[in-house]
Amino acid sequence: MVRAIVGANWGDEGKGKITDMLGEKSDIIVRFQGGSNAGHTIINEYGKFALHLLPSGVFYQHTTCVIGNGVALNIPYLQKEIDDIVSQGVPKPNILVSDRAQILMPYHIDFDAYEEERLGGKAFGSTKSGIAPFYSDKYAKIGFQVSELFDEDTLKEKVARVTEQKNIMLEHMYHKPLINPDELLETLHEYRDIVKPYVCDVSLYLNNAIKEGKTILLEGQLGTLKDPDFGIYPMVTSSSTLASYGAIGAGIPCYEIKDIITVVKAYSSAVGAGEFVSEIFGEEADELRRRGGDGGEFGATTGRPRRMGWFDCVASRYGVRMQGATEVALTVLDVLGYLDEIPVCVGYEIDGEITKDFPVTAQLKKAKPVYETLPGWKEDIRGITEYDKLPENCRKYIEFIEKELGVPVTMVSNGPKREEIIYR
Ligand code: GDP
Repeated sequence: MVRAIVGANWGDEGKGKITDMLGEKSDIIVRFQGGSNAGHTIINEYGKFALHLLPSGVFYQHTTCVIGNGVALNIPYLQKEIDDIVSQGVPKPNILVSDRAQILMPYHIDFDAYEEERLGGKAFGSTKSGIAPFYSDKYAKIGFQVSELFDEDTLKEKVARVTEQKNIMLEHMYHKPLINPDELLETLHEYRDIVKPYVCDVSLYLNNAIKEGKTILLEGQLGTLKDPDFGIYPMVTSSSTLASYGAIGAGIPCYEIKDIITVVKAYSSAVGAGEFVSEIFGEEADELRRRGGDGGEFGATTGRPRRMGWFDCVASRYGVRMQGATEVALTVLDVLGYLDEIPVCVGYEIDGEITKDFPVTAQLKKAKPVYETLPGWKEDIRGITEYDKLPENCRKYIEFIEKELGVPVTMVSNGPKREEIIYR
C-alpha cells in the first residue's frame, strides 16, 4: 500500500508533522524529489528538528528511510543531518539511497549563488542550495549518478569533461575561481565513501516491498504552486512537487499510489518571490506572521520571514486537484483564533471578469482577490481532540473550505505537536 503526502499551496503547509504522524504507521518512507532546499519541522520526544534531506521517518526504528532517484542528493549534507540527529540522542536510522539518485555537486551551490548575484534585483530568491543548477545538469545529461562513483575510470573521464565546460562559464560569465578537476575527483571519492553503506537499487527494493504488502509513504516537499509545470512558473522549484511524480522519483508503478493526503494550510504563506493573489501586508500581515506556525512564520531553511495571506480557495482547489488529493489535512487552524472575522479569497478578478479557476502566471499577475468574510471563533482551539467540540464558527470555516476544495477534510491540525490532531 503506497500513500503520498504532499502540499497544495506554496509549501510550509505543515507537512512535516502529518508525515511524522503517518510515518509511525509506515514501514518505508521515501523522499522522491527536491533536495535540502526546503525543510520540515518536526517536534517529538527527542526535541525539535528541522529536516531538509532526510525523510521524516528517521525518528522511528521500525521504518526504512529512502532517498529516491528523483532527489538532489547533497552527500555531505546527508552525513551532517545523520550526525546531527544522532548527536541529539536519536538512534541511528535505517537509510537507503538510490543508486540512480544524482549528486548535488559543490559547484551547483556556487553556481546558484553566482547566478543570483548576477541577476541582482531580478533574482529568484533561491535558497542557494544548488537545486536549479543541479536539475539543469541532470536534464542536460552532465549530472553524476551515485552509481558512477563506483566506476573510477568513467568517473575520472567525466570529471575532466564536465570541469572543462563549467570552467568556461566560471571564467567568462561569472569571473569566479575555476574548478580543479583533481580536487573535484578527490571530493567525489570522499562522497563515495560516505554514501557507500546506504546505496541500493531502490526501485527494486520498493517493488518487492509492495509485493510483500509493506506500507510505503511518499513524502513530498513544497507544494503544487511550486511545481515547475503547474506552479507559478518561473518562481517555482526545479523538480515536480506532485504526487504523480512520486512514482517516477521512487521508481514504482503510478497505479500503486492509492491514497494522496494533501496538506492545506488554514491561511496562506509563501517564501521567495512569485504570484500570491491573497497576500496581505502591513500590521495585518505582521500579526498573522507573528502568531503563525510554531513561534512565527519564518523559513525553516533560511529563517526568512514568510509572506502572509488569507486562505485562497482558487489556488487551494487547484492545488488539491493537481495533486489528485483523495483526502485533505487542514493545518494550523489554531492560529486563526484571534480574529473577529476571517477573509477568504473565493475568486480572482482578472480584467473585470471573476474566475474560480487558477490561471497561468501571466493572467495571475493581473488577478485581484475577491473576498468573502467568515465569522471568527475567538477561542483557543488547541487541546480539543474531537471535531464536535470545536466552536461552531470554526467548524463552519472548515466546512466552507471543504466545500470549496471538493475533497474531504479528514484531519484538522490544531497545534504543532504530533498529538494535536482531530480526525473526522
Ligand atoms: P512543511 O514544509 O509543510 O513541512 O512545513 P513545516 O512542517 O515546516 O510546518 C510549518 C510550521 O508550522 C512549523 O513550525 C510547524 O511546527 C508548524 N505547525 C504545523 N502544524 C501546525 C498546527 O496545526 N498549528 C500550529 N500552530 N503550528 C503548526
